[in-house]
Amino acid sequence: MDVKSGYPWWPVRNGLLRDYPPLLVDSQCDAVVVGAGITGALIARALIDAGLDTIVLDRRDVGWGSTAASTALLQYEIDTELLQLSKLVGEQHALAAYKACEAAVLELQAIADDVGDVGWREAPSLYLASSRRDARRLRPEFDARREAGFRVEWLDESALRERFGLVAPAAILSRPAAHVDPYRFTHRLLAQLCERGLRVFDRCEMVRWKPDAGALEIRTATGARVRAQWLVVAAGYESQSLLPQNVAKNRSSYAFVSEPLQLPAEFARCIGWETARPYLYWRSTDDGRLIVGGQDDRIDIPARRDWRIPRKVEKLLARLQELMPDVQPDVGFAWAGTFAETEDGLPWFGAHPQLDPRVLFAMAYGGNGITYSAIGAHILANAMRGQSHPLAGLFGFARG
Ligand SMILES: Cc1cc2nc3c(=O)[nH]c(=O)nc-3n(C[C@H](O)[C@H](O)[C@H](O)COP(=O)(O)OP(=O)(O)OC[C@H]3O[C@@H](n4cnc5c(N)ncnc54)[C@H](O)[C@@H]3O)c2cc1C
Repeated sequence: MDVKSGYPWWPVRNGLLRDYPPLLVDSQCDAVVVGAGITGALIARALIDAGLDTIVLDRRDVGWGSTAASTALLQYEIDTELLQLSKLVGEQHALAAYKACEAAVLELQAIADDVGDVGWREAPSLYLASSRRDARRLRPEFDARREAGFRVEWLDESALRERFGLVAPAAILSRPAAHVDPYRFTHRLLAQLCERGLRVFDRCEMVRWKPDAGALEIRTATGARVRAQWLVVAAGYESQSLLPQNVAKNRSSYAFVSEPLQLPAEFARCIGWETARPYLYWRSTDDGRLIVGGQDDRIDIPARRDWRIPRKVEKLLARLQELMPDVQPDVGFAWAGTFAETEDGLPWFGAHPQLDPRVLFAMAYGGNGITYSAIGAHILANAMRGQSHPLAGLFGFARG
C-alpha cells in the first residue's frame, strides 16, 4: 500500500501557526509551565485567570508533542466504563469523574468559542458493542449512565444500520461530545493568553530544577535561570522520566485521514469508538474526510512505530470495513503518536509525595486526555491558591 505518512496531520494541515523566541535571559515569575501542548495551554489559562505571572517553556515548537498527533475526540466517557470504574474506585468517585468530564466538555466548548476558529464541532459519541457478548454487557452500562442523569440513547442493530450505516449489535449514543483541531486550539489559546501577559518560549528545554532560597530555580538548555514559586510539569508522556517511578505505560497509536468522501449524514455528525481493546476510534472533518485511529501497540518504540504505519493502516481499514461495509476510504495521510495509559484510566494531577510540593505534575493520560487537561487545570490552579478541589484526591498521586 502506498501511504503518505510522517508528521502528524494537524501541523501539515495548518503549517507552523506562530513561533516564539527561546528564553536567553534570567527571569522571575509566579509559575513556570513546562510543555506547550494542549495541557500546558489550558493550565496557563487557569493560572492567568488566577492572576499568576506565568511562563510557558517547550523544548520543541508549540503543539508538537502528542497534541499534534491527537484525533481530539472530546467525550465525558473515559476508557474505563462507568461500572468498571465504580468497582475500582467506588461508585461515588466513578460518578464524580464522569460528571467532571461532562462539565469539562462544556467548558472546552466555552473556551473554543472564546478563542474562536479552532475547528470546534459538537458531535454525539457512539460507543459500539464490538460483539454480541459486549452488547449484553453494555446494556447495564447504559442503564447506569441513564440513572446517573447522562444524556444517553440505546441503539440496536437495525437502528445502527439504518441511521448510521454501521454493522454492530448495539451502541450507546452520548451527549455532550465534540471534536476540535487540537493544534490550532493550543496555538490560538496561547496567543490569546500572551495578550493577557503570558510569556511563551519555545525550543527551550527545562534541564533541571532545584529549591533555591524560598523559591524554585528552573534551568533551561539555553542557559537561562527562572526563579518561580511553582513549577508545573505538563510535558506529556515525557513527564514520567521526572518521577521516582513509572505511573503509566507508554503506548503507540496509529491514525489516518482519508481523502474527501461521501459519508452517511448521521454517521458524519458523530464521533465513535468501540468496546474492544484496543479500540477503533473515528470522526469526520469539516472538509468531508474521515479520521480513523487505533491499532495501539502495548509498548511504544518510536523507531519501530513509524515503519509499522502502512501495515497498521491496512488493519484499521479492515476493521472499518467490517463496521462500515458501504464506505471505502482512500487514505490521504497516516501517522503515529505516543500516548500514555494508566491502569484505571484516570490521570495524575498534583504534587508527588516524594518530590518538592511546589512541583505539580499535569499528566493527562488516557484516551480522553484533553478532557482531563481541562479538569486538571483547575485542580492545579486551586492547589496554588491553597484551595482544595473535589477531584484532587482521585486524580492525584495519593490514589496510587
Ligand atoms: C494518535 C493519538 C490519538 C489521540 N486521540 C485522542 C482523542 O481522540 N481524544 C483525547 O482527548 N486525547 C487523545 N489523545 C491523547 C491526547 O493527544 C493527549 O492527552 C494530549 O495531547 C496531551 O497533551 P499534553 O499537552 O499533555 O502533551 P504533549 O502534547 O505531548 O505536550 C507536552 C510538551 O512538553 C514538551 N516537553 C517535554 N519535556 C520537556 C522539557 N524537559 N522541557 C520543555 N518542554 C518539554 C514537549 O516538547 C511537548 O510539546 C491521542 C493521542 C494520540 C497519540
